Amino acid sequence: MTGGNGNPTILYYHRVVEEWEPTLELAVSVEAFEAQVAYLTDRWRVVSLDEVEAHWRKGAPLPPRSVAITFDDGYQDNYGCAFPILKRYGVPAAIFLTTAHVGTGKTFWWDRATLLYQKASAARRLKDVIRGYGAVDAPTAEAWVKQLQGWSEAKRAAVLDDLEALTGPIDGEALPKSLSWEQIREMAAYGLSMGSHTRTHRDLTRLDPEELEREVRGSKEDIETHLGRAVRFFSYPFGRWDHGVRAMMAKAGYALAFGGLDAVPSPYSLPRRKVKEGHTWGFGRQFSPTLFEAEISGLLDRIFLRSWR
Ligand SMILES: [Zn+2]
Repeated sequence: MTGGNGNPTILYYHRVVEEWEPTLELAVSVEAFEAQVAYLTDRWRVVSLDEVEAHWRKGAPLPPRSVAITFDDGYQDNYGCAFPILKRYGVPAAIFLTTAHVGTGKTFWWDRATLLYQKASAARRLKDVIRGYGAVDAPTAEAWVKQLQGWSEAKRAAVLDDLEALTGPIDGEALPKSLSWEQIREMAAYGLSMGSHTRTHRDLTRLDPEELEREVRGSKEDIETHLGRAVRFFSYPFGRWDHGVRAMMAKAGYALAFGGLDAVPSPYSLPRRKVKEGHTWGFGRQFSPTLFEAEISGLLDRIFLRSWR
């Protein structure tokens, strides 16, 4: 909620899919997304990141209940599933692209890790493999991915290779792909905002200064080269940043950066609220305005003392 401080609420999504299932932790269904967008159009004021920038940088006031819609990673279903709904309701949105993945068919490690987790669990072999790496028990795929996120890239690659050797090769088609530049150009021409989410989606707090610059400045240049317009918005992979990362935001010429936790939000540490499938439906799979409103306004966080992600 804009609440007492008058700041807009920023929502974030990853995937929007035709066939949702509970293992798709990063996805919402097309039905849920449409119900949410319909509700936001009706009861909130959906603003663009340009308006959010004017608010944070020039103090331009926003009406109460202003909300912005953003997507991380740049999954292809943003074009096939989300874009038609955004057009139908005429609402702005922003997509944060992982530029080295655009148009390449390259997949993200967490999608591979989730699939391997399911295969290894089904074969009752998961524990045998992960114990050898000193992993703690992972009761869900989500917990498994979270654990892997803290590992070095080499160790993560090794355990995933071991799991794949054990359970058989993954069908590449089973993993979701990223957008193409053609799709991105079409959405940008329509008016969606394209931001950067780095080149390769690494944890920026673990990089040396040259790598950090390549990820932050390089991804901006990639998008600007393809779209011919300035990129001013950034979202931190895994919501992770530190002093050096934030300093690079200003140096590279970004106006706003999203994600992570900060005691006091600033233009380079703007908190967002993750929207999940479960935030949508009440009894009988009817859209529940009460539930959705409680989630996006932060009411449930205040009740359960949850932190923003
Ligand atoms: Zn991401």
